[in-house]
Formats: sequence, structure tokens, C-alpha cells
Amino acid sequence: MKLNLIATLLLLPCAAAFAQQPAVDSAITSGANAAADTSTPKEPKPIQSFDLTAIDKTVDPCADFYQYSCGNWRKNNPIPSDESEWGRFDQLEERNTYLLYTELEKASRPNPDRTALQKQYGDFFASCMNTTLADQQGAQPIQPLLQKISDLNDKAQIASLVADIQARHLGSPFFSVGSQQDLKDSTQQIGVVRQGGLTLPDRDYYIESDERTMKVRQQFTDYMVTVFKLAGDTPEQAAAEASDVLAIETALAKAALSRTALRDPLNRYHPTQVTALKQLAPGFDWNAYFPSIGAGQLTSLNVVTPDFFKALNQVISSSTLPQLKSYLRLQVITANAPWLSSPFDQAHFNFFSHELEGQDQPTPRWKRCTRLTDRNLGEAVGQDWVRQYFPPDAKANMEKLVAALKTSLAQDIQTLPWMSDATKKEAEAKLELFRQKIGYPDKWKDYSSIQVDRDHLIANLDHAGAFDFTYDLNKIGKPVDEKEWHMTPPTVNAYYSSSMNDINFPAGILQPPFFDNSKDPAVNFGAIGVVIGHEMTHGFDDQGSKFDGKGNLREWQTAEDRKQFVAKTDCEVNEYGGFEAAPGAKLNGKLTLGENTADNGGLRIAYQALMSVLASEGPDGGKSDVSKLIDGYTPSQRFFISFAQVWCENITEQSARVSVKVDPHSPGQWRANGTVQNFDEFGKAFGCKKGQPMMPENACRVW
Ligand SMILES: [Zn+2]
Repeated sequence: MKLNLIATLLLLPCAAAFAQQPAVDSAITSGANAAADTSTPKEPKPIQSFDLTAIDKTVDPCADFYQYSCGNWRKNNPIPSDESEWGRFDQLEERNTYLLYTELEKASRPNPDRTALQKQYGDFFASCMNTTLADQQGAQPIQPLLQKISDLNDKAQIASLVADIQARHLGSPFFSVGSQQDLKDSTQQIGVVRQGGLTLPDRDYYIESDERTMKVRQQFTDYMVTVFKLAGDTPEQAAAEASDVLAIETALAKAALSRTALRDPLNRYHPTQVTALKQLAPGFDWNAYFPSIGAGQLTSLNVVTPDFFKALNQVISSSTLPQLKSYLRLQVITANAPWLSSPFDQAHFNFFSHELEGQDQPTPRWKRCTRLTDRNLGEAVGQDWVRQYFPPDAKANMEKLVAALKTSLAQDIQTLPWMSDATKKEAEAKLELFRQKIGYPDKWKDYSSIQVDRDHLIANLDHAGAFDFTYDLNKIGKPVDEKEWHMTPPTVNAYYSSSMNDINFPAGILQPPFFDNSKDPAVNFGAIGVVIGHEMTHGFDDQGSKFDGKGNLREWQTAEDRKQFVAKTDCEVNEYGGFEAAPGAKLNGKLTLGENTADNGGLRIAYQALMSVLASEGPDGGKSDVSKLIDGYTPSQRFFISFAQVWCENITEQSARVSVKVDPHSPGQWRANGTVQNFDEFGKAFGCKKGQPMMPENACRVW
């Protein structure tokens, strides 16, 4: 599980990703300097699409299709000691990371022939790899900020300090601020403040009182004591500070809306005058705050969860100044600990990756630094990366596939048994307005103003963070940039944005096992075809269906159709809510509803698209292809195996438990089995009988 999913969701409140975000905290920060430097990066093999050796033929595909498709892969690919989960997704991500690493490593060597971009990202990477310097400096790189916190002598000054920390991305105390498209007028960029300020991955960790959660809170407390001591506090001070921070974060957690509740766009849409925000939380000096972040002219904004800001006011007024300082200290230390000296890095790894996620060994430094550079200078690094690793024909091939899927979804809407003609017209109009982005941006962001120094990693993070923060805030009041990307080119993922009504496929995912020109159409439609169908179906899931083709929050279903829609989606809520991610840990059917709907719709329309292609343009000139065997499998069977094999994975029990709380995606096992169970064509392809586990009597269908 990659922890910073939270941040991603906050950044993209209207976007749905294909998989949990890879370029995020624990995948990057879960390291420790000492062990890392000794590891030598090796080039991972290209990933095999349609892997016959992964299949476990001792299992009946009608009994457990996931085990059938992935059984041998799972047996032969245990989780590496420096990971908390390992799947075919992760293998591709690791390969992309390695290839990116070779670029960065080359660019990190001082050489007058480097281009300006290479010098910038090369020096950034070099500053990250310099653990000797990090170890010499200890907490010194964040000392000026810690000093500012320590110098506070009046609660009224907190707002300016919070602004300073947020605007440099050197921590995210209390809440986050930025821009977003107005949910009801997608042509407008407005300001937004969102709940936040928690260190643990979800509000539940502060609230629930079962044994496991209490243990996590104790481990969190121990972590805080450790890092406070590393920052120079006595054991007694450190213990008192930890207890104060836990109390503050618990109060914030109790006031935060759950992830499930936040899925409803109306629950996160509260346009508010700045004057009203000041009344909501008068204890926080907004008059100082907004000018400090460069938004002094703001008159109104979306206050995502007003009750949270009321509670924040309460926290500030009922806490003492020293308690609030402890909280700010922890925010800054935690955000930067992975990049400070070994003891800080080790403490961070030990709690967030080892205890919380079950990862045995730290992630090698080269991987972490590669991902960190990609995250901070993604559109600089990406320019050179796509030139080398994104073949020019890939974009044209993807466009063809997208067109095939679009036709298939249009037909699916036509034949949908539960929807009235009036609503079908609206759905088709929305589909007609879908836009797509493939590979990488037409126009790259200009990072030339970001100052990079090869001897100062924290300063580099500060500058890149400030650039990002300002870039985002500057959108307020300006026209929407339809061409902007929210994932970097090497990312192995895809997303749909309901405010943009667009689907986005970074270059990183457009290769095996998702996309392979050397394979038959069945294999490609089962993998990247389903990814495309998945993203399209997001436009019509529990969240997406509330937005129209222009990206505006507007009900376009008739009242009767909406009732039917809810009944159909409830079927999936119950189905997936019965699946377990770890012993006793059932999936949250409501949190995962959008992703499950997208998986089910994606599989169906990709399958229909494949059938159309085989019927019309198979290499044998037509329909005979539908029954042609390759490797002993029909095209239908190859389609389903290719689909399921995307999800071959192993995961630690701890990581699975974190995912259940925070990840809107179901685990791989259920993304495969839960989906094929709902699609009769699967049972037909493998000769299953009604009533067998993979062909139940009562299947769910939304789209
Ligand atoms: Zn998705």
C-alpha cells in the first residue's frame, strides 16, 4: 500500500485512478540510508504479457479464476524484502523506475555537455543520493523552520507559520489549500481548503478501539518520542509532546468526514465567502494566512468540510501554545524525516513501512531518489524519458483502441436493460464529449525557475514544493487548462477526471503486460482495453454519473433511472462487501464502489469491443478467428486470462489491512474474481455451470 493516496485524493477530488497511486510516500520514503547505498541496481526483465507460466492448471477456473490465472506466479514471486506488496503492476513500475534511474544517474555526473534540463534533474537526483552529507547534517536542514516554530509567542502568529510550511510543501499542518474546478461550473477555477493534518493514514486509526488499532497508536506514539528526541528534546519533553500531538490529531480526526462520505460530491461542495470562513474559524488568523500564501485577493472558495474547520477552531482555542508548537514540530519533522540523517530516516521507515505495512527492509536509496525526482520534476525528467521509451506508433495504436472502446460503450448504453430512453440520450451525449490524453503533455511545464543545488536536498524540495504550490494557486480565476496532466509520463496508472470529463493514459502504462504489439488482440483488449473501459466507465459510476458531459455536477438521470442505478450499485456494494482482504477485514463496498463499477463495466465493454474486432478484421478475414486457439486457448479465454493476470500480486497482511481502510480499489484477487463473476461471457468461455463460484445465480450489473 502506498500511503500518500490520501494526498492524491485531496489533490484530485474529482479524479479516479486505475490503481493506487505508485509515486507516493511509502514507495518513496520507506528507506534508510545505511542499507540503501550498498545495493546495486539491476535491470529488471521486460514484463511478459499473457504469461503461461503464471497459470495454475491444478485449479478449476470456474472455482477460483484468480488462482487459476495467477497461482504459479504468486508462488514463484514472493514479496521482496524491501517491498510490502509485489504484483505485475509493481514489476512494471520497478522497470520504469530502473530505466528512469539510468537517465538520472547519467545526468547526475557533472559534465558541461548536460542540457539545462539534465543539469536540473541530475543535480536534484545527486542531492538526494548524497547520504554522507545527510548524515553529517542531522536535523540541520529543517532547523530554521523548527526555530521559527520555537520562536512563536502568540497563537495569533500560527496562521502565517502554517502558510509558510504549506507553501513550501515542508509539511501539511491542519488542512490543505489549493485550486479546483468549480463542481457546478467546470470552466471556473476556484480556491479550496480541505480537511487534513493527520499523520496516520486514516481518521479510523484515531477513533477505533480494537486491539490492532490501539497497537498502531502506541507505535505511533513511540515513533513521535523517537523523532522528538532526535530533534534534541529530553525523553520527558518528548513523551509529553507525543501525547499532546495525539490529542490534537484525534480531535481533527473526529471532525473529519470519512472517505466514504467524501465520495458524494455534494458532501465536498460548500462554496463559502472568505468572510464566512472567518466566522467559522475565527481563532485562525485568515487575514494573515491568505496574503501569506499569495491569495490575499480571494473573496470566496470551496470549504470542503465546514464542520472540520469549526473543529479546527476549537482545537486552536482549547490547546495551549506549546501543544500547538509540538504539533507543528511533528508535522515538519515527519514530512522531512526520510531525507534527513539515518536515524530520522530509520525511525520513519520503522513506523510507517515496517510496523504499519509489514515491509522488512528499507527500499534502496536509488529507487527512492528516482521516484522523488520524478515526483518533483516529473515533466522535466519525462521529456527525455518518453523520447527513449515511448514508441511513436504507440499513441496511434492507443487512439484506435480508445475509439473501439468508445463505440462499444455506446452500444452498451443502447442495450442497457434498466435505463429509459431519455436517460440513454443524456448518457450518449456525455460519452460524445469525452476527451482523451495519451502518453505525455503536448506542452511541458516550465521548471526553469526552480533553483536546484546538488548539495541541498531539503532546499531543493522546498523550491520544487513552492513552485508546485504557486502553480496550483495561480490557476484561481484563470481559464481551465484542459491539457494539464496529473500524472507524470513514466507512471504506471491511468485516470478519469469528472470535472474535465477526460481519460488519461501516461506513457508508463502503455507497454507489457498492458499493451503489447506482438500479441493477438485478445491479450491487448483484456489488459489495456479493460483499462480504457475502466476509465470510461468512471464517467458513469457512483461519482461520475453525477456530472454531465461538460464536467458539471448536474442530475441527468430521471428520478426512476436514478433509483434503478442505486439498486444496481447496491448489488455491487453487497457483493464486494462480502470479500475479505485479510482475516476478518472485509472490503468496504461503498468506498470501493466506483472502482468496482469501473472494473465491471470496463471488462464488459472491452470484451464486446474485442468481439467486434474479431468479427470484422481478424487476420483470417473474419469470424473464424473467434474460435482460433493460441497456446491452447480461445480468444475469449485469452482475453480473461490477460485481464486477471494484470492483478497477480502478493501483499503483506499489514499492507492489506491499511488498504482496506484507505484504498478505493479492491485487492487484485477481487478485481479479478469479483468482476468475472458478474459477466456471463466469462462462464461461457470456460464452460462453467450456473451456481459455480465464478458463475453465480445472482450476478450484479450496472453498466
Ligand atoms: Zn479507477
